[in-house]
Amino acid sequence: MTILDGKAVAAQIRAELRARTLEFERKHGKQAGLAVVLIGNDPASAIYVRNKIKGCEEAGIRSFAYELPEKISQEEALALIRRLAEDKKVHGILLQLPVPGHLDAAALLGAIPPEKDVDGFSAENIGKLALGEEGSAACTPLGIMELLLRYGITVSGKRAVVVGRSRIVGRPMALLLLNADATVTVCHSKTKDLKEECRRADILISAVGRAGLIGPDMVKEGAVVIDVGMNRGADGKLCGDVDFAAVKEKVSFITPVPGGVGPMTIAMLLTNVCRAAERNP
Ligand code: NAP
Repeated sequence: MTILDGKAVAAQIRAELRARTLEFERKHGKQAGLAVVLIGNDPASAIYVRNKIKGCEEAGIRSFAYELPEKISQEEALALIRRLAEDKKVHGILLQLPVPGHLDAAALLGAIPPEKDVDGFSAENIGKLALGEEGSAACTPLGIMELLLRYGITVSGKRAVVVGRSRIVGRPMALLLLNADATVTVCHSKTKDLKEECRRADILISAVGRAGLIGPDMVKEGAVVIDVGMNRGADGKLCGDVDFAAVKEKVSFITPVPGGVGPMTIAMLLTNVCRAAERNP
């Protein structure tokens, strides 16, 4: 059994990006730039934003951080995003979700032009992904594909099962796997027999958010198991959806939580910024 070390691979990606962003700077006389917009006082969001800004520094990307007050109006927030959409120093715009309840998140996201949508959340980028065309795909599933690739795990022809169908993880994950020629099943809260579906998987990806959901009886011998979940266990520690200690005995590859999918998400965000800058300098 091999543990897929997302932390180490992400560090390698950041180092590779550093060379790419230096080349961009040499060619265009400016750095690739990411604007990060944080609205309100959610402490978890503040940590995510801090990590993304730190990642930018390490990858040679200039970051522009905007911390907006909780009570900001829709018009003011929209005005900022529209200004960033026009700003030539900004190649990617990231609106940290969730936004406060009085704001229309879909309208704010809709104001980010597809070429600056480095989170891959826009209808246009999701449409491109569904058609197998080039665009920005969502960072978490993209990070999982990169992890599989770098560990030499073949996807083509494999039976992949994705548990979860959210817009940011499950759906784009299924599309990326399909585009890579896997035979894909998507499970969700209405799936009749989750255990049987999961047991058929050569590659099992759980993106639900429930600790202990995937036990050893749900996993085929020798499968590849990717755990996207981020939960607090009964002991207060961070854990995934998979019963790691028991499942690791049965599988060929598995991601830990923390240190698996999480670091890859930020690495792919930085990759998407770099690609966006190269496409539209
Ligand atoms: P979400 O929007 O809440 O979606 C959860 C999905 O799980 C839904 O599709 C839901 O089905 C499905 N589900 C719920 N209970 C289920 C059950 N008992 N059996 C099968 N499916 C079930 O969550 P998300 O945003 O996709 O995130 C999922 C998890 O990944 C969370 O723990 C989140 O914190 C984590 N996450 C981690 C990263 C990272 O970088 N590591 C990034 C993003 C998210 P329905 O559609 O039928 O409701």
